[in-house]
Amino acid sequence: MSRSVLVTGGNRGIGLAVARAFAGDGEKVAVTYRSEPPPPDLLGFHCDVTSAADVERAVAEVEVQQGAVEVLVANAGITRDKLLLRMGEEDFEATLDANLKGAFRVVRQVAPKMLRAKRGRIVFVSSSVGLRGEQGQSNYAASKAGLIGFARSLAWEFGSRGITVNVIAPGLTDTDMTSGLPEKRIAEMCAQIPLRRMASPEEIAEAVRFVASPRASYITGAVIPVDGGASMGH
Ligand code: NDP
Repeated sequence: MSRSVLVTGGNRGIGLAVARAFAGDGEKVAVTYRSEPPPPDLLGFHCDVTSAADVERAVAEVEVQQGAVEVLVANAGITRDKLLLRMGEEDFEATLDANLKGAFRVVRQVAPKMLRAKRGRIVFVSSSVGLRGEQGQSNYAASKAGLIGFARSLAWEFGSRGITVNVIAPGLTDTDMTSGLPEKRIAEMCAQIPLRRMASPEEIAEAVRFVASPRASYITGAVIPVDGGASMGH
């Protein structure tokens, strides 16, 4: 297949692994980045998902390069961890703005053409923290849980046009986002995971690739944990 795929935050971490998985399948892949461009084998577009104007411009540029987006992976995200009593409004707002509203802005730009084409795949990268909660991450958990309600609503809105909307909920994954955690904390967290280890970004990418594939044609509104069993029962 050679569909037009857009991955937000595809210059590193999970987004990069997702982009590479699609590229390996022969898809046309564009990634957005905010700070550093992606490796040269990938087509990169500068875009801060907290800016509607940036998103509008980047999606227009992607369309010129590789056609209307047929697969959207809304992956860009940040953490601003603090216990509630130390969390300012700015920490809460910035996290929701990037993780939840950022996904809204991108979908809002690509959806009209997907709806007109009557086909498409939308995948949101949430988190097992959105299912279970985590101390020090109330802002992040709220943003990631918000993505689930958002995705499921879109699954209803877009279902009659053959567009699927799904959520992948990664657990602890070995990327820059987690590289700052002390080794001791990682070990403690891994002890709470049935598979007793972190995920690799490639393991998350596999699930994204699956729900975006024709093999997943009857899956929509699903939340798929890829977390070594950490959120079992949530
Ligand atoms: P990284 O920190 O390695 O990458 C984050 C990506 O998001 C980067 O590409 C970054 O771009 C991009 N990004 C952040 N803010 C913005 C913004 N305002 N506009 C555009 N791009 C932005 O994290 P991961 O790869 O680990 O995370 C990817 C997704 O997976 C996130 O949504 C995260 O919440 C989620 N996740 C991660 C887990 C983990 O344990 N690592 C677990 C569960 C979910 P830039 O490089 O330009 O800053």
